[in-house]
Amino acid sequence: MNDKTISLVSRRKFIQIIGCGACGGLAAAGTNVLAGGHAKVNPEDPQPKALGYVEDSTMADKDKFPQFADGSMCSKCQLYSGGDGKAYGPCGIFPGKEVSATGWCSAFAAKG
Ligand code: SF4
Repeated sequence: MNDKTISLVSRRKFIQIIGCGACGGLAAAGTNVLAGGHAKVNPEDPQPKALGYVEDSTMADKDKFPQFADGSMCSKCQLYSGGDGKAYGPCGIFPGKEVSATGWCSAFAAKG
């Protein structure tokens, strides 16, 4: 093995290490990023929290938001523009992010 070979091997090893590190980073970040590249709305962020957003409408805080009606969910809301059968979709309240089709928040407005 000459110096050039060592350098090439080191470079390959470096790329492998960096590559794995990047994969790990993406995997960690991927927990909140959907296939289309949009982030899910985080129910713990201030705005969603203030609106009582939940990913599962059955978990809506009915004491705090008595206007909640059984069966209401994002996919039945005027502000939701996700496709039929999609698990997540855009909502006019949260630009650039997506909400759960089965989610709910207090800004719910039933489709007509
Ligand atoms: S405004 Fe409608 S679509 Fe958006 S989070 Fe609230 S209930 Fe879901």
